[in-house]
Amino acid sequence: MNNNKIRLFVDFDGTITKKDVGDAIFERFLRPELLEQGWHEQIISEWIAGRLTSHECLSRECEQTIITEEELIAELNNFEISEGFTETAHYCKNNGIPLLVLSDGLDYYIKYILEKHGLDDLEYRANHVYFSNGSLGIEFPYGDRGCGRCGNCKRWHIETTRQDGDCVIYAGDGYSDQYAIRSADVIFAKQDLAKYCDKENLDYFSYDNFFDILKHIKSDDGKV
Ligand SMILES: [Mg+2]
Ligand SMILES: [Zn+2]
Repeated sequence: MNNNKIRLFVDFDGTITKKDVGDAIFERFLRPELLEQGWHEQIISEWIAGRLTSHECLSRECEQTIITEEELIAELNNFEISEGFTETAHYCKNNGIPLLVLSDGLDYYIKYILEKHGLDDLEYRANHVYFSNGSLGIEFPYGDRGCGRCGNCKRWHIETTRQDGDCVIYAGDGYSDQYAIRSADVIFAKQDLAKYCDKENLDYFSYDNFFDILKHIKSDDGKV
């Protein structure tokens, strides 16, 4: 049994949800002529290469959308959450384990999807999106904090939230998690994040869904 207090941080897109919601929304609602020209793939690869900050990338994406709130909601009803996430959230709540969702995506869909699954009381930190003249507008409530590359710097949130003696567990799947995991004691990684950990020789647990993570938390917590 580990005497340190577990504190769990979880990415949203592709981690809590099975698919990346942000990506899917832009693929669906960006101006069709831009999608045809490969504009979206291009700015995503610029972002991955580090030539665009996520602040710049998201601002460009949002301003090129054609979308109404009703259309977005209809699209959001298509997304499923990972098996075991609800159980993990309940376990954390019932056992006093702090759980914070960290996303460099958009707050609207995070709130909507969590509420839809009865997880309204989960805390999250994300960028703020709003509807404006038939497209999306974006604000960065945490944009001036952290590394300067992120719209919402996950690592900054971990460093300013964790307390002495915490055992920080981080679960994620993608590029926006690669700085955050530097502040974690235990990493759960899949997809691009797992590839990144392999490349950087970072220890991590691979996982299929949240039941794998819950099992680890329970054993660390001395419950199994
Ligand atoms: Mg993700
Ligand atoms: Zn950052």
